[in-house]
Amino acid sequence: MRDVVGEATQRRTFAVISHPDAGKSTMTEALALHASAIQQAGAVHGKAGRRGVTSDWMAIERARGISITSAALRFDYRGHVFNLVDTPGHADFSEDTYRVLAAVDCAVMLIDAAKGMEPQTMKLFEVCRHRRIPVITFVNKWDRPGRDALELLDEIEERTGLRPTPITWPIGIPGEFRGVIDRLSGRAIRYERTPGGATRALETELTAEQAQAELGAAWQQASEEAALLSAIGADHDQKAFEAHESTPVLFGAALPNFGVARLLDALAELAPPPAPRPDEDGAVRALDAPFSGLVFKVQANMDRAHRDRIAFVRVCSGRFERGMVLTHAATGRPFATKYAQSVFGQDRTTLDEAYPGDVVGLVNATALRPGDTLYERSPVTFPTIPSFAPEHFAVARVRDSGKSKQFRRGIDQLDAEGVIQVLRSDRRGDQAPVLAAVGPMQFEVVQHRMLAEFGAEISLDRLDYTLARRTDAASAPALDRERGCEVLTRSHDGALLAVFTDRWRMRSVKADQPGLTLEPLIADTTEELR
Ligand code: GDP
Repeated sequence: MRDVVGEATQRRTFAVISHPDAGKSTMTEALALHASAIQQAGAVHGKAGRRGVTSDWMAIERARGISITSAALRFDYRGHVFNLVDTPGHADFSEDTYRVLAAVDCAVMLIDAAKGMEPQTMKLFEVCRHRRIPVITFVNKWDRPGRDALELLDEIEERTGLRPTPITWPIGIPGEFRGVIDRLSGRAIRYERTPGGATRALETELTAEQAQAELGAAWQQASEEAALLSAIGADHDQKAFEAHESTPVLFGAALPNFGVARLLDALAELAPPPAPRPDEDGAVRALDAPFSGLVFKVQANMDRAHRDRIAFVRVCSGRFERGMVLTHAATGRPFATKYAQSVFGQDRTTLDEAYPGDVVGLVNATALRPGDTLYERSPVTFPTIPSFAPEHFAVARVRDSGKSKQFRRGIDQLDAEGVIQVLRSDRRGDQAPVLAAVGPMQFEVVQHRMLAEFGAEISLDRLDYTLARRTDAASAPALDRERGCEVLTRSHDGALLAVFTDRWRMRSVKADQPGLTLEPLIADTTEELR
């Protein structure tokens, strides 16, 4: 049996996050290609025009050119095992991203060199801060005209409060990208496009003299700026990085593969390996304790032919062995793991063993929900992943009443997967549940999947509520009598939610009846997040 702590130390489990269009999919492919995990760029996402995932309901994604689904890609790189956990690109699925971030030890934030900090960049930095996830920043698209490097650093610092510590510095302005200075080693690296393809860039290490001779003024300016950075103390500090006080910054371009290898090296050198995880009482579960894992994503029917449901589990402690019988902490029931897989996009391979940091896809995971804990032998429950506060609400009804059984089954399943939150009340009845979403595109996914997978066409009537607060049984009757307010029960955990048409309504109810319970929904994140 292999040494669990030793295996864990080799793991690097991370996510690539960014504002849409900053290059997340391109970078994911480039990283995978570089590490030779997949043969051909384009196998990763089901994007328009690309080879990719073909399951039915992903038609929505393809049409929109976005990626909603999450999976994990595992590859070896320089003696390390990398687990790249995929995140959805669109802000409407930020709750999924939030759940994925519960499963990683580090995040790579992509910033578009021309656009700098964008709205979703800010939110994601904020989420990382709340989850205390160290962030490596990659300024992407340096091969195209963009902003000044020092100016971008200022903006990162100002908007995130993190101290940027460049570990590479670009030679050449955006659009005239020649290479980088590796500030940790002092080397200069020249980048050249490889003819005919985006598989790998040509990287040549240059001495200072060669750089001076070949890159001239661009080299001169870059080395002066790099010296300036050292003078102001913008140097990498591992402790500050891990404490989420600073962020190492790299410059590159994912499309021509400039700086992708350096990013992999930075992950190997700097990203923290899996650490013992605190349980819901704050006690840590040692890495070499018996197996424990956190479900961070549940997804059904990725492949139409299979018609199954996969729970993605991040291994937190111990060794996972396919076939072992685990306990589902929420119900105390046994869970068989005969069908453990490593899943990425369309590709599935059977997974026989896994260590802390790895992601296991468990097939036939009907009972599992995001946030659930699985363990072997000694019981543990990890803190659940808090739900985002919904801001969009709609009543769902089945169009053909002959399909009400399929309707109920479908709604229950999508609820369990965390695709949408389902709220019910006696007043509305079971035939008319209220669906609550963070972003309206979640409704489209529900509508599409209900028809495609359950054969139940649904109608959705939007309600004009925009915010939700947690309340209790004692406050519910008084709230239900208020105009512009309604109390509903969240199906998956029985929580009572008071939903309001707007902030002013909520505030006036609060002012009139200060004794009522009205609490923000998400505990460890801020309201300003969305
Ligand atoms: P995502 O929405 O963040 O996943 O972004 P994509 O990876 O789909 O990239 C958005 C667009 O930017 C695509 O047209 C990419 O080809 C392009 N792109 C991504 N990275 C680079 C880069 O480094 N340089 C250039 N010139 N284009 C890039």
